[in-house]
Amino acid sequence: MLPRAEMNVDAVVERVRPIVDDVRDRGVEAVLEYGERFDGVRSESVRVPFAALREALDATDPQVRAALETSIERARAVHADQRRTDTTTQVVPGGTVTERWVPVARVGLYAPGGLAVYPSSVVMNVVPAQAAGVDGLVVCSPPQREFGGRPHPLILAAAALLGVDEVWGVGGAQAVALLAHGGVDTDGAELEPVDMVTGPGNVYVTAAKRVLRGRIGIDSEAGTTEIAVLADHTADPVHVAADLISQAEHDPSAASVLVTTSVELADAVDAELATQVASTKHDERIRTALAGQQSGTILVADLDAGIRVVDAYAAEHLEIQTQDAAGVAARVRNAGAIFVGPHSPVSLGDYCAGSNHVLPTAGCARHSSGLSVQTFLRGIHVVDYSADALRDVADQVVALAEAEDLPAHGQAVAARFGTRKEWSR
Ligand code: NAD
Repeated sequence: MLPRAEMNVDAVVERVRPIVDDVRDRGVEAVLEYGERFDGVRSESVRVPFAALREALDATDPQVRAALETSIERARAVHADQRRTDTTTQVVPGGTVTERWVPVARVGLYAPGGLAVYPSSVVMNVVPAQAAGVDGLVVCSPPQREFGGRPHPLILAAAALLGVDEVWGVGGAQAVALLAHGGVDTDGAELEPVDMVTGPGNVYVTAAKRVLRGRIGIDSEAGTTEIAVLADHTADPVHVAADLISQAEHDPSAASVLVTTSVELADAVDAELATQVASTKHDERIRTALAGQQSGTILVADLDAGIRVVDAYAAEHLEIQTQDAAGVAARVRNAGAIFVGPHSPVSLGDYCAGSNHVLPTAGCARHSSGLSVQTFLRGIHVVDYSADALRDVADQVVALAEAEDLPAHGQAVAARFGTRKEWSR
């Protein structure tokens, strides 16, 4: 019954479609015009020169650079372990089915850059794609007026650290369209169309992904961020309040939900929220998010009821701050990611846990997972049967084909053994 924040993508789709078509027809010229209109800057060219990536990295604050390196190193360790291996099943003697995991050839990664800048999202998209073995990676991020129409230097620095050398300064729907259709820059540099676009973005980015889905593959549609905390009387209200605030900081429509068995904890968290929000930089945004219908506290009779609530809600981020937190976490079925115990806050996962922070929102955790190596792989079944193995099963194929009134299917097998039947009208 807890309402979610609404993001009306359908309403924006019709506004985005002409942008997508225009970029398809006029390419970079259209991209430059939309950059001028929506980002307030027109650059000379859209592709960022390779030297500018190195320069941005060299100019990065050493502490931020070291933190990005830690983030990349940990994410690489986790994602390397996700890589699937090909499997071959011997179904019958002479008959095998192999599942071959093949990376998508070329992927476009969108790094948002409208209201805030997210080098961490570059890490979270690039690391699994690289671990999957994607060869062609291109990053797009909006042009910034204060940086001469190039993406934010931290986006460029993150790309350089990750070994991505193709970055284009384009944002919004026009970025997704350019990635899908390709284009030629003012200086002749070519953007080859991609097979897939991943990465979070605002409603225009999401609408463009929806319009182009099918022509390109996409990851899930990222909605507004959410945190749910399942807590009992052992939880520390200072930590719980700080974690609820940390996700409310993303967006005025972010959801921060506390599910607890303890009235005392609920009251203590309320008091803490009042104190902590007042001394937070983005206090207005956070206040709006916490006061929204999508945020609140739910009192439950016991932890069993609490688990039923968090399962029904299927939060993007779920913290468990209870006795035997690991035991409780193991009983949860629906969440984008689960953060166990007092020392695993969501913001650790946002940056440096090694886990991926691109996660299903709006209840999609009931059926979907976050971004992973798997997102960038396709499992291709390779079927290889000998004549004897096919002969052994020929009658069954014919029987099923005829039962489905598709007799030509059966005859395609029969033809190999000289038993093809003519159809008499
Ligand atoms: P953005 O890069 O997604 O969008 C900026 C672009 O929007 C601009 O380049 C512009 O071209 C386009 N735009 C702006 N106004 C427009 C208009 N009126 N018509 C057409 N196009 C227009 O950056 P943002 O706006 O800051 O949004 C980023 C979003 O991504 C936020 O909602 C944030 O919460 C989300 N995010 C999610 C995650 C995650 O992992 N789920 C991570 C980072 C960011």
